Amino acid sequence: MVDLALEQAYRERLTAALPGVRDAIAEAAAGVGRDPASVRLVAVSKGHPVEAAAAALEVGLTDLGENRVEELEAKLAQLGRRARWHLIGHLQSRKAARALAAADLIHSVDSLKLAERISRLAGELGREAIPVLLQVNVSGEDTKGGFERSSAHESLLEVVDLPRLDVRGLMTMAPFTDDERVQREAFAGLQELLQELRRQRPNVGGELSMGMTNDLRAAVAEGSTMVRIGTALFGERETAGGPDA
Ligand SMILES: *Cc1c(COP(=O)(O)O)cnc(C)c1O
Repeated sequence: MVDLALEQAYRERLTAALPGVRDAIAEAAAGVGRDPASVRLVAVSKGHPVEAAAAALEVGLTDLGENRVEELEAKLAQLGRRARWHLIGHLQSRKAARALAAADLIHSVDSLKLAERISRLAGELGREAIPVLLQVNVSGEDTKGGFERSSAHESLLEVVDLPRLDVRGLMTMAPFTDDERVQREAFAGLQELLQELRRQRPNVGGELSMGMTNDLRAAVAEGSTMVRIGTALFGERETAGGPDA
């Protein structure tokens, strides 16, 4: 059952928070001559109850992000396909089939093994092409998942050439810092990698999933097409656990 009072509280919170987030996107976009409409806002409802996700839809958000398959499935069961569902957290191979069924876009394909599994499953399920982003670890911090930047290029090509994967672009998490220069450098690195990849494989899409609450402006300035915003919209999460929890 949905708790209506709680949903109302989230709606008020979102109504207050959303203009600030949209303004930050618009300012950062304007600063580099980009159209703010080219940046999709993915509201990361992970760690918040289904009421938060429902409220997000009511205030006009259309894209919801979750980092665990179980939590995505639970919210999907209540809200259905009114939202576009983004899986943004690490995906274990054994849960790949569930992710394929539930998510509209998987941002976190972070290994050749997982990509091969998704490709194989798509064949078994008779699915045409599964839309995915490939996650790259641009900072080299070992707490961050993804293809290692040093070896990324070769392995990314291998993934792109797998059947039944529709590689729409790349995703990353910047190093955790308030230094905007460091953030921008990380995001610029992902942009560069995507351009290089697209020169060699024109079938790769142009999406760059980058930017969270802490580094939203830097990401938009460096060409992000999808920002993944949790805290700035919904407030602090109750459950501890970082980006990959
Ligand atoms: C939690 C999470 C976010 C949102 O982070 P906030 O700092 O709350 O905006 C974005 N991306 C990923 C991969 C996450 O796990």
